Amino acid sequence: MSHCPFCKKKIAMSKAFCSRSCKENYFQLIAIQVPKPFLKRIFVFCTPEQREVEIENFASRHGWRIDLLKNKIVELAVESGYTKEIKLNS
Ligand SMILES: [Zn+2]
Repeated sequence: MSHCPFCKKKIAMSKAFCSRSCKENYFQLIAIQVPKPFLKRIFVFCTPEQREVEIENFASRHGWRIDLLKNKIVELAVESGYTKEIKLNS
């Protein structure tokens, strides 16, 4: 057995992803680049409301899905020590 790299579901060894949407999401997630200064700005200088708006603008500017972008930002923010929270607006 192998695991879907996006949702971590178990899949057959012969498959790379469990579904087409997982494949698309996975590659979109890889394509998302969040610059360090942007990350710092939204976590250090923005209120949670401003942060939401910044993230929405950032997503629409690049044509990325907002939920994937948020996942990525949370991941990076935890890595960089800006937040210990899994949720963005708390
Ligand atoms: Zn999957």
